[in-house]
Amino acid sequence: MKNIPFFNYSALFQENSQELTKIFKNVSSRGAFIMQDDLVQFEENLAKYTNVKYAVGVANATDALQLLLIAGGISSGDEVIFCSHTMVATASAIAFTGATPVPVDVDKDHMIDVNSIEAAITPKTKAIMPTQLNGRMSNMDEILRIAKKYNLQIYEDSAQALGAKFKGKSAGSFGIGGCISFYPAKVLGCFGDGGAVLTNNKDIYNRIKLLRDHGRGEDGNVSIWGYNSRLDNLQAAILNFFFQTYDKTIKRRRAIATLYHENLKGLKSIYLPPPPESKGNHFDIYQNYEIEANRRDELKEYLVNNGIGTLLQWGGKAVHEFRELGFTQSLPYTENVMRNSLMLPLNMTITDDDVKYIANIIWKFYNAKN
Ligand SMILES: *Cc1c(COP(=O)(O)O)cnc(C)c1O
Repeated sequence: MKNIPFFNYSALFQENSQELTKIFKNVSSRGAFIMQDDLVQFEENLAKYTNVKYAVGVANATDALQLLLIAGGISSGDEVIFCSHTMVATASAIAFTGATPVPVDVDKDHMIDVNSIEAAITPKTKAIMPTQLNGRMSNMDEILRIAKKYNLQIYEDSAQALGAKFKGKSAGSFGIGGCISFYPAKVLGCFGDGGAVLTNNKDIYNRIKLLRDHGRGEDGNVSIWGYNSRLDNLQAAILNFFFQTYDKTIKRRRAIATLYHENLKGLKSIYLPPPPESKGNHFDIYQNYEIEANRRDELKEYLVNNGIGTLLQWGGKAVHEFRELGFTQSLPYTENVMRNSLMLPLNMTITDDDVKYIANIIWKFYNAKN
C-alpha cells in the first residue's frame, strides 16, 4: 500500500534545503528583514510575470483583498457580490470594510455562476469579487459585461490563481486589482503567511503602499490611517527562489491534471474538473484538483484506508452556510456541490505512479459497490 499525503509540507524545505539555507544565511546576515531589496525584486518579478503594472507584497492574501477594497473606496452601506464556493476570507475582507458580502451560486466548473450575478444586484451593489478558484479563471467576458452595464467595480480573489489566464490575460489584471496568496500549500508557497496585491491602477497602487505600512510614505510622513501588513523580506527572498522555476511547476501541475483526467474520465460516479486546454479561453494552473463524487464521504474513507489523503475545500461548507456570520441565503446548487466535492492530492511531490494508483483505487471503490 502507498502512503500519499494530501500535501507534504516538509518537502517544501527538504527538496531544496541547501539553497534555502543559503538564502536564510544571506538575508539574515545582511539584516535585511523588512522592506528590503529582495521584496522590491520579488514585486518586480511578480508584476512582470502577470503582466500588470504594479505588484505589492503584503502579509497575506486576505489583507490584500481588504486593502484593495479600502483603496477602491468600498465602505459601509455598500454590497459586494461574491461566489459562495470560496474561502471565508473573501467575505471577511468585504465585511471588515463595513460593506455587506452577498453570496451567489457556483457554476459547473466551480467558478462564479455569471447568470446568478444580475439577480443579486441592488442599488447598493458596488462591486463583484469573483474567486479564481482552483487555479482557474471565471468567465471574465461576462463579468466585465455585467460590471460595465451596472457600473460596478471588479476585484479578483485570485489567491489561488497566480499565472492562470483567461483569453491570455492573467488573474488579477481585470479590474481594480487582485490578490495572490503565498500560503505554504499554494502553488507559489512561502514558509508561513504571505500575499500580494496586483493592480494596473496607479492610484490604487499608491494607496496600497501606504495602507500596508502604517499609512507612511517613503519620506516617513503619515498621510492616512494604515495597517501593518508587509511581506517579510525573508519570505520574499524564498519566493524569488521558487519563482525561478514557476513555469515548470505549472507545467507539472497541468500534466498531473491531464493524468487524472485520462485515468478517471470514463467513471460515471464522479464529475471531473475541466482538463487543461492547449488553446481555448482558459489556462488553468491547478491549485487544486477538485472532483464531485457520489457517496463522497464513503469514498474519502476508502481512500484513507488505502493510504491516500484528500481534503474537503473550506472544510466542506460554502461561505453562506456559516449561518452565525448572518447569512440567510439559500443556494441549493452550491450546497449540493459542497456535499459532493473532494480534492485529490495534486502537488509537486506526487508521482505519475501515485496518480495512477489513486485513480485505480477510485475505480475499485465504485466497481465494488455499484
Ligand atoms: C488561500 C485563500 C485565501 C486567503 O489567503 P491567505 O494568504 O491565507 O490570507 C483567500 N481566498 C482564497 C480563494 C484562497 O484560496
